[in-house]
Amino acid sequence: MKKYILKILIGFIIFLNIIPLIYMYVLSQGLTPSSLIHTISLAVPLINIGSFMYLILSKALSHGISSASLDKERLSMFINVMKQINISMSSLDDIEKILNTINKTILDIMKADYCSIFLYDESAGKFKRMASNIKDPNLFALLQNDVNSYLFNKLIDKDDVFLSDCGYKSGQIRNISSGVSIPVRISGYNIGVVLVEFTRIYKSDDNSIQILNILGSQVGNILKNSNSYRKMHFAANMDNLTKVYNRHSLDKIIDNEYRNALSNKDDLSLVMFDIDNFKKCNDTYGHLFGDKVLIELAKCVQKSIRGADVIGRFGGEEFVILLPSTNLENAYYVADKIREKITQLDLQSDQGVVHVSASFGVCNIYYTENQKDLITKADIALYVAKRTGKNKVVAYTEELANIQREKK
Ligand code: GH3
Ligand code: MG
Ligand code: MG
Repeated sequence: MKKYILKILIGFIIFLNIIPLIYMYVLSQGLTPSSLIHTISLAVPLINIGSFMYLILSKALSHGISSASLDKERLSMFINVMKQINISMSSLDDIEKILNTINKTILDIMKADYCSIFLYDESAGKFKRMASNIKDPNLFALLQNDVNSYLFNKLIDKDDVFLSDCGYKSGQIRNISSGVSIPVRISGYNIGVVLVEFTRIYKSDDNSIQILNILGSQVGNILKNSNSYRKMHFAANMDNLTKVYNRHSLDKIIDNEYRNALSNKDDLSLVMFDIDNFKKCNDTYGHLFGDKVLIELAKCVQKSIRGADVIGRFGGEEFVILLPSTNLENAYYVADKIREKITQLDLQSDQGVVHVSASFGVCNIYYTENQKDLITKADIALYVAKRTGKNKVVAYTEELANIQREKK
């Protein structure tokens, strides 16, 4: 209604602008214009300036007022949800409820149509639902499918993402025109996403993205304490049988520690060990006993190393121990101490107590050009330990490097 009145007014002012033209025409013909036309002609420039200023001022004022009140509204929503998060953080039993509250707050703050929170399940390689306002399970299944296919590379390990191409199937069905996603982070690692979708074209504004990012990090904090995250994290990073790091996370840890050691000019050693004659052990006492040996060995090593050291199952009956800030001599000493402890383990089988041994290869960062070298060269040393009698530790040194060179 207001718009129509404004249009009529603008039309009227434009019409008034014709009168001075008539006035000038009448003057040019040597005639005397009526006093009404005379007065109006004098008033029109003033009316023009007045309405022009009114338009500018009213636009500026309405913008200022609406954005100020919107920010106030957003701020109070934000403070409210933060209070709720703090209350719920003390009773961590209802993660889903609080995630749904955050989800709803995001919808209100962003004036969005849909908001869904996904957690990345590393073991399955997929995003999984944590919260969403899409209640229809079929519709949500479609979105989840899009998030794990069409949208996957756009969302995984990214910062804020603005989606203008919403041609994914579930987006089309729900008439989505634009979207924005922010990462859910724990200690700097992306562990999930918050996907906000709009049926209108969303224009990014700094305040809402900032609030969204804070809420995203709160989601990270909440999930960090949730059982489902712990379970997923464990399944993705730990070896099922021995409960030490699996190969996948071992690779990541070695990568990280190698880079840290280089940038901090710190020492780093890696120990690789392999159980001796394990095939025979399996054949004699059974595969289940073999499994028990692997579990007991991993426990034994875990107990023998420092907090900063890391043990992981490299594969089969091979393990890796990463020793940050440790030189070759000390790494050799640690490896030999563990070797000794392994031989002393009393392992109960159907046929009585069994003893096993393992062979060890050690490599220090000094002998490497890259992180892969740590593994390759520890493996060479381990191979020498096997070839020269087993149940011993061999370090990768200049001597071994020379033998390698001669072989080539
Ligand atoms: P070496 O002293 O030269 O290392 O001989 P080995 O018999 O230990 O080595 P080999 O590579 O011939 O055999 C490794 C065995 O480890 C064969 C495989 O069945 C066994 N193994 C690998 N993973 C598992 C597991 O998860 N459980 C059990 N029980 N055995 C496993
Ligand atoms: Mg082996
Ligand atoms: Mg073996």
